[in-house]
Amino acid sequence: MRGRTFCALLLCLALAIGGCGGVENTASTGAAPDVSETSVPLSSALPTSEPSEPAEETEDTGIGGADGEDVDPVEEDTAPVDVPADDEDVPAETPSEDFETDVEGAIDAATAYWDYYFPTIGFTFEEPPISPYGPGDPAYCDGTEMALNNAFHCPSEEAIFYDENWMSEQYDAIGDAFVYMVIAHEVGHNVQYQLDLPYPSSIAYELQADCLAGAVLGNPDFVLIEEGDLEELMEGLAAVADAPGTPWYASDAHGTADQRSTAFFSGVEDASTCLS
Ligand SMILES: [Zn+2]
Repeated sequence: MRGRTFCALLLCLALAIGGCGGVENTASTGAAPDVSETSVPLSSALPTSEPSEPAEETEDTGIGGADGEDVDPVEEDTAPVDVPADDEDVPAETPSEDFETDVEGAIDAATAYWDYYFPTIGFTFEEPPISPYGPGDPAYCDGTEMALNNAFHCPSEEAIFYDENWMSEQYDAIGDAFVYMVIAHEVGHNVQYQLDLPYPSSIAYELQADCLAGAVLGNPDFVLIEEGDLEELMEGLAAVADAPGTPWYASDAHGTADQRSTAFFSGVEDASTCLS
């Protein structure tokens, strides 16, 4: 998955060194993108299940799966061979360059999309600050230190925070689409706040953010979908879905995997459905 703006920069570099994973970028020329081989049309993968209609109001509790129980652990290489002892000095949790690049791409894509979309409905999008946090650099919302292994939007600060180590682990375990989904979801919460969108319950609030994320990631003018991204998105939505049996009225309920994917793909189809 690539942000269009970022990919224009990446492609120049990639072409110089002989390849860009098959991605064809045409943003700089204004021509239609060549998506015949490397792009998966998200709109072709619409699920058919319908979300339930809960009716209780609660606060945002992050992207979901915050306790890590529902998220696949990062596979570890348990058989290091020929690694000099000196290499052990390298911090194991330093995010990779690609991870940081994809975080920037995800932020650029989501904010650029809403910069474009807001004027079409008579508003101006105010880009929220989006910051990493971690064990040595905690994030706060309303004076409360936020839990690790999560990403969240803080309404009172109109700001978004993500646990950098957690997101990097999921990036390694699931793929870059997970990062794009999480960022687009949290920016979706900011969109809800800026537009003062009504919602009847915690689940409805979360599913609306999933829908808004789908609007961003499903727009080929802003995001290029690469081979494997759809599977990563579905795995990512499942990873942050509620565990089976979670009551819809639970204060931290986000929705089942089916509910979340249905909401996401309704946004892929038509962003305006998210706002109603
Ligand atoms: Zn959320």
